Amino acid sequence: MADKRAERIARLIAPLRVPPGTEVDLARDYDPRYKAHLKKREGRELLAVGVELLAEYQARLAAQDTYGVLFCLQALDAGGKDGTIRHVMSGINPQGVHVSSFKVPSAEELDHDYLWRYARRLPARGDIAVFNRSHYEEVLVVRVHPDVLDRQQLPPKARGKGIWKRRYREINDWERHLTDNGFAVVKIFLNLSREEQRTRFLKRIDLPEKNWKFSAADVRERRYWDDYQRAFSEMLSATSTKRAPWYVVPADRKWFARICASAVLVHTLMEIDPQYPVIGERARADLRTARRELEEQAPEGAPADPYAAERDRRARTEE
Ligand code: AMP
Ligand code: MG
Repeated sequence: MADKRAERIARLIAPLRVPPGTEVDLARDYDPRYKAHLKKREGRELLAVGVELLAEYQARLAAQDTYGVLFCLQALDAGGKDGTIRHVMSGINPQGVHVSSFKVPSAEELDHDYLWRYARRLPARGDIAVFNRSHYEEVLVVRVHPDVLDRQQLPPKARGKGIWKRRYREINDWERHLTDNGFAVVKIFLNLSREEQRTRFLKRIDLPEKNWKFSAADVRERRYWDDYQRAFSEMLSATSTKRAPWYVVPADRKWFARICASAVLVHTLMEIDPQYPVIGERARADLRTARRELEEQAPEGAPADPYAAERDRRARTEE
């Protein structure tokens, strides 16, 4: 059963994975409207399966306390990051997950190296950390807007020609360090078309309850569409690695994007395959001793082990 589901998930996400070492041209290689012949209703079922599997695997991840998962979400404005997080994480124990949203950096953040603020939000073992925007902004918004780079207070040697290639390498090295030490790095780019972004912006303007989501800056940022497409294409080409591949998720249909995001995360957890810890002979002997002590404390008339008594009673009535 689990194997069948695993297979289905692997098949769904395979075409979205950016093969390491390939030259990506977003517009040519990835269609924002792709939906793998799925119907919306099948999609709903599949998302429910994903949410269920995620809950199951996350519980094991937490219990084993050996591996952690970093789940990075990148998109242009209105790409659907917030909704994706809300849906994909809906069945998960909140204790095992934390979400960090990265905005314009603070003065304190600018006073450190560019990876510092992301490093502070990395997952602990057993946890899933979700990055709503991520360290990849450092080669996206920072690249598209040179004045943002100016604010980073870099020494002259750390700037200049070659800075983006160097940052790609540094990011790859950082992620390699994480994966080598038991932290899976999962990276999703929600790939939205220009026309769908226009529609979603207008919806945010048209509906009063969506107004808060809209900012005039979003329309200004949209003017840099082509620069962003180039920055994304180059970034995907340089930083999709075997250990930490990128997935380009078609984002024009929100329901399909959510299924894919969920599938990528579940796939990662299935590959980790975390196990509940099994206790050794010594610990089992301790449990037996503790059991005897607790059983001896049973009050007059109470069963020695009320839980076992109830379980046996149920088993008998079911027979
Ligand atoms: P939002 O996700 O809509 O709340 O917007 C967050 C804003 O922060 C976006 O406009 C991003 O471009 C901006 N932002 C995120 N990371 C950085 C960064 N490292 N440097 C400059 N701006 C950033
Ligand atoms: Mg915004």
